[in-house]
Amino acid sequence: MDKITVEQVQANREAISKLHDEGEAARKGWQDKRQEVDREYRDKIWELEQAKREELNSLEDKQSSVTAHYDQRIAEQYQTIEKAKCILECLSLDPNRDLSIADDEIEISRYAKEYTESLGYLFDDDYLKIKVFIVGNRKPKNCYSLIAIGKSLFTEELIKYRHDYGIDIITSYRGFSLIVSIKDMATTAELKDYYNKHKGKMLTETIEEYQQAKTEYLEDINHYTVDDFRDLITWRCPKCKNFQTTFDSDPAFGKPPQCYRHDPYIEMVKTGVKVMS
Ligand SMILES: [Zn+2]
Repeated sequence: MDKITVEQVQANREAISKLHDEGEAARKGWQDKRQEVDREYRDKIWELEQAKREELNSLEDKQSSVTAHYDQRIAEQYQTIEKAKCILECLSLDPNRDLSIADDEIEISRYAKEYTESLGYLFDDDYLKIKVFIVGNRKPKNCYSLIAIGKSLFTEELIKYRHDYGIDIITSYRGFSLIVSIKDMATTAELKDYYNKHKGKMLTETIEEYQQAKTEYLEDINHYTVDDFRDLITWRCPKCKNFQTTFDSDPAFGKPPQCYRHDPYIEMVKTGVKVMS
């Protein structure tokens, strides 16, 4: 092997420096190219993203309008079903039900002051009776409450009555459709005075709603009979006109539903009409 010379070392160093610069220039060239491509694609991607957004938005609009269209059409179909349910509910009511409220019908809870006084009927109609009472409560000062109790033929399906909580009377199993707390005062005389002054304006909204429900009820029972809906009737009471329909859930364990209008209750009889799922 030849001997290494200083010239050689120098020449190598120069060559390295040159290669270095050359390499750097080439690398820079590709770097610029990369940036250029990167920019190009970024623009393309942005444009594509933009186009994608626009297309998706327009599809979403179409989808929403289809949803609205079908919701609307379904709602239209439901109107008839809801009306039929309403009519069936009306037909299933027992117009002979006794709705009178006895003066001693109120039972005070054991936590409250023992006091009951009836002020008579505030409203007395065929299918709704409202009686007003003064009852004791558990407050230390305003220990008398003016309350209204109502019994109505119309169920929750037909009319939403007010049912206030926190009144110190026992209400379960008494068939009250509405229970309204009107005023608490310190003496019964003050409450009577209050009642006499304001009774013309009490529960007017409820009474209006009732009048409307009554008009519809009378129309429905005049225009329809249970037989018009024969194919929707799933169970019938053998003793009275009470029935269940395909809109009622089928009784558990295949047990017949009871007709609660009799004492003791009576089992209803299957008609053969299937319950709709
Ligand atoms: Zn019955």
